[in-house]
Amino acid sequence: MTSPLTDQQLDGIEARADAATPGTWTAVELPPNEHDPRPVYWVKTEYIDEDGCTTRQTVADAPWRMADAEYIAAMRPEVAKILVTEARRLRAELAATRTNSLTTEADELVAHCPEHGSRDTVWMNCHCDVAADMRRRALVPTSVASEGGAL
Ligand SMILES: [Zn+2]
Repeated sequence: MTSPLTDQQLDGIEARADAATPGTWTAVELPPNEHDPRPVYWVKTEYIDEDGCTTRQTVADAPWRMADAEYIAAMRPEVAKILVTEARRLRAELAATRTNSLTTEADELVAHCPEHGSRDTVWMNCHCDVAADMRRRALVPTSVASEGGAL
C-alpha cells in the first residue's frame, strides 16, 4: 500500500500543473521517414507566446510507444488540477464524516447513560468520559503527515 499524499505533495502537483502549458494536449504519431526508420510519437499543444502569437508545438517526445504519448496527453495540466481538487474535496468530506460519526456516537453513549441519559432503555454504566473523549477526537483534524518526498 502506498502512503497517503501529503498536503505538500498535492501543493507540488498543483504548482507544476499551474506552471505547465495549459490547453488540450494531443498525441501524434509521425510515420517512419528517410531520417527515422521507426515511427515517432509526440505530444503537441497550442502555445501562446508573450506577443499573443499562437503556435502548435511539441511539449513531449515519447520515443518508444504511442501509448506513452497518449498517456502524457491525457494527463495534461488541467487533469492534474482536477485530481488535486478532488483529493482535497474527498479529504474534507472524510474529515466531516469522521467528525459527524464520532459526535453522533458520543451522543448515543450519553443518551444511554443511567446518570446523564434521556433514553428509557439504559444498557450500560456511565461512559460519559468515553463520549467526551470521542467529542475531543472529533475536533482533532486528521492530518496527513507533512513529510514525504516530492512527486
Ligand atoms: Zn454518564
